[in-house]
Amino acid sequence: MTKMMRAARLHKIGEPFQIDTIPLPEVRPTDVLIEVKAAGVVPNLRNVVTHYPTWFPFMPLPKLPAIYGLDAAGVVTEVGAQVHADIKPGDRVYMNPGLSCGSCIACRRHDHTNCTAFTFHGYFGFGPGSQKVFEDYPYGGFAQYLTAPVANLVKLPDSISFEQAARFGYLGTAYSALRKAQFCPGQTVLIDGGTGTLGLGAVLLALAMGAAKVFATGRNPALLDKLHKLDPRRVVPISLGERPTADVVMEATGGYGVDVLLETLGANAPVENVLDAFNGLRRGGKAVNIGGVADPIALDPFPLMALQKSLIGSCWFTTDEGQSMAAMADAGTLKLDVFEHECFPLAAVNEALDAVDKRAGGFTNVVITH
Ligand SMILES: [Zn+2]
Repeated sequence: MTKMMRAARLHKIGEPFQIDTIPLPEVRPTDVLIEVKAAGVVPNLRNVVTHYPTWFPFMPLPKLPAIYGLDAAGVVTEVGAQVHADIKPGDRVYMNPGLSCGSCIACRRHDHTNCTAFTFHGYFGFGPGSQKVFEDYPYGGFAQYLTAPVANLVKLPDSISFEQAARFGYLGTAYSALRKAQFCPGQTVLIDGGTGTLGLGAVLLALAMGAAKVFATGRNPALLDKLHKLDPRRVVPISLGERPTADVVMEATGGYGVDVLLETLGANAPVENVLDAFNGLRRGGKAVNIGGVADPIALDPFPLMALQKSLIGSCWFTTDEGQSMAAMADAGTLKLDVFEHECFPLAAVNEALDAVDKRAGGFTNVVITH
């Protein structure tokens, strides 16, 4: 008899998710089957599932009915015939949802995040090849079980809960950005939008990586205070809208500026904020955009050249970086106990989407738990 499982599926644009009973996936040779324990509910998810026709044309969405759920963690229950490494049933894992095709030029040079068919499992894709990847891996985190390529697994030590692991997508995005900026211990960093879901992860990673000072902007005084309390010696909160961020940073660094800027502000943030933060960057400093500010940024090429400042785009992270984060969390340098989990059962997935809309900044972690 075919084994069955439950999954929340989107059948029609703009309609709620529906709980369906569907066959359990078959495991292919290089895949594993994971019993999902927790899956993150991404703040942007409602925007995606209600705006299919107006979504970015270069970023394909899965055909309906689709199982969403980007950041999933759980227990391996079955391994494919060609899985010989140290992954076995019973292992606790996070699945890096950044899927690649394995055969394009980028994949063949092991540069998987630059795969021409790079695809977020249970979310959206980045290239024309993404639809095929969705067909290969159609089971997002809002299902009881999913299949994952063994190469995308991060093994989780017992010290990391499944709910915490469901936050790895945001954490990893910040970690990879700091690495791309060649951030070193003892340096200073400015996190623009530090109280948000992405920004809080950036603050935590900068602290874990040995930042001397972490300047973090935000609007909500209570959240800024909470951020400051994470490490009162190193976290410097900056209230947006009071004084220019660049002035505060320059004053605090003796006119030098910060070594690294992580831009994490969301789609509707004013471009002036981005430019203001960029002015706080030192000569030779690197800014990395991991946020979603939608409007064009007026940056003059001449000062960029003269001051040797860079603006880098960064999307997601590698499985290797995910494994490093797990090690940092296990060692206690990366603090994951700051999140306030709001857990919903699969049947309440639509309520979970409402909860994300009402969340109080990045500390709230809305997850579907199975
Ligand atoms: Zn590829």
